[in-house]
Amino acid sequence: MAELVRKGRVRELRGIGPGIERRLAELVETGRIAELDELERTVQPEIVGLGLFLGLSAKRSVDVARALGVESAEEFREAARAGRLRSVPGIGAKREAAILAALEREELPRPRRGLLLNRARALVEPIAEAVGGVVAGDPRRWRDTSERLAIVTSDNNALDRFQQLPEIVAVVDDSVGVTVEGVPMRLVVAPRERFGTELLRATGSVAYVAAFEPLPAGASEGEVYAKLGVPWCPPELREEPHRAEPPELLELADVRGDLHCHTTWSDGKASVLQMGEAARERGYEYLAICDHTPSVGAVPGLTADDVRRQGEEIAAANERLSPFRILRGSECDILRDGSLDLPDDVLAELDWVQASVHGGQRMPARELTKRTVEAMRNPHVRCLSHPKGRIINHRPENALDLDAVFEAALETGVALEVNGLPDRLDLRGEHVRRAVEAGVKIAVSTDAHSVRGLGNMELAVHTARRGWATAGDVLNALPWEAYRSQPRR
Ligand SMILES: [Zn+2]
Ligand SMILES: [Zn+2]
Repeated sequence: MAELVRKGRVRELRGIGPGIERRLAELVETGRIAELDELERTVQPEIVGLGLFLGLSAKRSVDVARALGVESAEEFREAARAGRLRSVPGIGAKREAAILAALEREELPRPRRGLLLNRARALVEPIAEAVGGVVAGDPRRWRDTSERLAIVTSDNNALDRFQQLPEIVAVVDDSVGVTVEGVPMRLVVAPRERFGTELLRATGSVAYVAAFEPLPAGASEGEVYAKLGVPWCPPELREEPHRAEPPELLELADVRGDLHCHTTWSDGKASVLQMGEAARERGYEYLAICDHTPSVGAVPGLTADDVRRQGEEIAAANERLSPFRILRGSECDILRDGSLDLPDDVLAELDWVQASVHGGQRMPARELTKRTVEAMRNPHVRCLSHPKGRIINHRPENALDLDAVFEAALETGVALEVNGLPDRLDLRGEHVRRAVEAGVKIAVSTDAHSVRGLGNMELAVHTARRGWATAGDVLNALPWEAYRSQPRR
């Protein structure tokens, strides 16, 4: 190619006219193209990013920006909205309309679904390890869905390794990997003396970090916080700017038992004994088996008779597992009129009753709240399951009036669940905070349908931490006997 350029024969190649010939000659002679340098100097990379979003190639984005005489994405948007796109050669009415429509979409909240917390952590943790870095971004705050993934490292070879990982489909802008999950992941390579600074910056929400800018240099987060004169803050609380001493939050090790799980009696995958053994191996003192009742519909539910037969199986398992204790429980459906799906005399035999709304999540607030509060007033109910009923990315929260539910919880002593299923996380952090401030007790539970599902306790615990919960706010941070001796109000 260089040979052809030097001999002046390059235009014999297809598609090469005088313009390209001139640039090629320059490249061969000087090793650079001045025009390109100029381009890099004047056109911000964000224009290319915006162009790609609008369906233009990188080169075309730059050409259009130059034709418009704009240098930033914002100027590009303004010029487009002012109707100037049509002055650009090659852009007709149709193309203009398409670009304007794409710009409108850009204004809407991002349509892409955030990555569920369990998947986000499963994606970032091994990548962080592979590049010798630590997890930052949304998953480090245990946000219920992740849109910003980030890893911070001081390893200068990290980018090479990052690019070669099978989970990274492509790297753009020298630091942002497009992951197999479709969510971008930023790799921050920080010099050792600024590692803490960049970790703090890549972890907090935009509002949290902005409140502390300019961040001082620090090798550790502790050093940065010390220079800011602010106590170290657990990542879960780095949503809103916060400068005071944070409370001592609930830890996974504080949890003494799991109060919500299923077995093969309903839609679980393991037996009563298998679930009990697995819970004991986790170091728990107790596990409540809470299978469904008939009204749940889609999956098998236990009748009064079934519940009693299951009680015999639990008694037998307890003989083998003692002093570990399996509690006889139920995830009892709340019927449309607020009554429960099992007769009172059966509920009275049980150690632990979770009351759940499954059907009728779309009821108006007044009806749904009335129905729920009515069920909480049943003297056998101990906990309200997944109160807001959301399925993340599939079903919005219901209209339940939480303040009314908090009031009923205080009156009856019923706890509110933080359900650890990755697509529920219900109550979510903001709700936990309101509940805790109201003095309502929380139960952190997994709703496990398998032995493995018991591992979701960390999701429930960190969600409770996002709501500022301490061990004192959490019922199952108590030994079972201590809780049992507290009578229901
Ligand atoms: Zn349920
Ligand atoms: Zn359940």
